[in-house]
Amino acid sequence: MPPAAMFPDTVAGMKAVLPDLRGRLMANQSLAEVTWFRVGGPAQTLFMPEDESDLAYFLAHLAADTPVTVIGLGSNLIVRDGGVPGVVIRLGRGFGDIRIETGERVRAGAAVPDVKVARAAQEAGISGLAFMRGIPGAVGGALRMNGGAYGRETKDALIEVRGIDRRGSITVLANPDMHYAYRHCGAPDDIIFTEALFAGTPGDPTKIAAEMDEITQSREATQPIKSRTGGSTFKNPPGRKAWQLIDAAGCRGLRIGDAQVSEMHCNFLINLGSASATDIEGLGETVRARVRENSGIELEWEIKRIGIPSSSDR
Ligand SMILES: Cc1cc2nc3c(=O)[nH]c(=O)nc-3n(C[C@H](O)[C@H](O)[C@H](O)COP(=O)(O)OP(=O)(O)OC[C@H]3O[C@@H](n4cnc5c(N)ncnc54)[C@H](O)[C@@H]3O)c2cc1C
Repeated sequence: MPPAAMFPDTVAGMKAVLPDLRGRLMANQSLAEVTWFRVGGPAQTLFMPEDESDLAYFLAHLAADTPVTVIGLGSNLIVRDGGVPGVVIRLGRGFGDIRIETGERVRAGAAVPDVKVARAAQEAGISGLAFMRGIPGAVGGALRMNGGAYGRETKDALIEVRGIDRRGSITVLANPDMHYAYRHCGAPDDIIFTEALFAGTPGDPTKIAAEMDEITQSREATQPIKSRTGGSTFKNPPGRKAWQLIDAAGCRGLRIGDAQVSEMHCNFLINLGSASATDIEGLGETVRARVRENSGIELEWEIKRIGIPSSSDR
């Protein structure tokens, strides 16, 4: 892929109106390296806030018409080849605290990888969070996606969330305020989650560790977890399995360029090496069309797609 054309650099202008900003602002920062698919163009501006108050300050003073997109560990994301206009926010160290609280609770910053939440709960003898062992994202992504596996979802373990809205106001949302459904969160789209409080029940650390090992083994046997992928591409339609519909439509192994429907698990798309975001998204749309033709069922994307297809769309 040729490098995507650059966006106009807005960093100096932003710094001028944000004299107290402590986090890092970077122009035309490539996002491909921070997503699992390893594709896509740059962020016009990438902002890595120092901590929650830095993020609140930034949002409160950013021009209201500047688009803002937040990303986590990029494990459920296609960044399109033309890049992402406006500001992309990526939370780092200042959102990486994790601690155990009384009542079998775990408080974790939005940048904490899900596997660390599962591990901390296991070590503290808290049962009910082992499912997070198999989700390769961070807490913010789990909250937005209602990430789940092996019969449990984020909503089953969540007490409350802290977040910041587009105007920079800090807000606390209780579990019902998240309006969760399968792989769906109904909290306002502009809220950037900064921290979550989870709860489990008392459990035996050895048994929880065994449960986590089983999850690891089952994933290694059934999913292409070492590939450049975005996990499940489409949501399971009510009462159906997306992978079965894709298989029945003859799409297992289907390729566009270096984008391929995984042979191992056909609801996973993989980048064999030099696929572009256009190849991967195009392959996904081809799969949707074939499934529609074959079964009459409209598959809905689970993977989030952000940005613009090419620099000529700017
Ligand atoms: C091999 C593999 C296996 C997977 N298995 C599963 C599975 O079993 N179950 C499952 O549910 N998912 C699975 N996934 C998908 C993915 O890991 C989850 O959706 C995960 O929760 C995404 O987290 P992330 O940090 O990578 O978010 P990203 O992919 O970076 O972003 C996903 C969405 O969350 C939003 N977001 C991220 N951080 C924040 C924040 N702080 N505040 C507000 N919104 C935010 C983004 O804007 C975007 O809309 C798998 C993915 C892979 C690659």
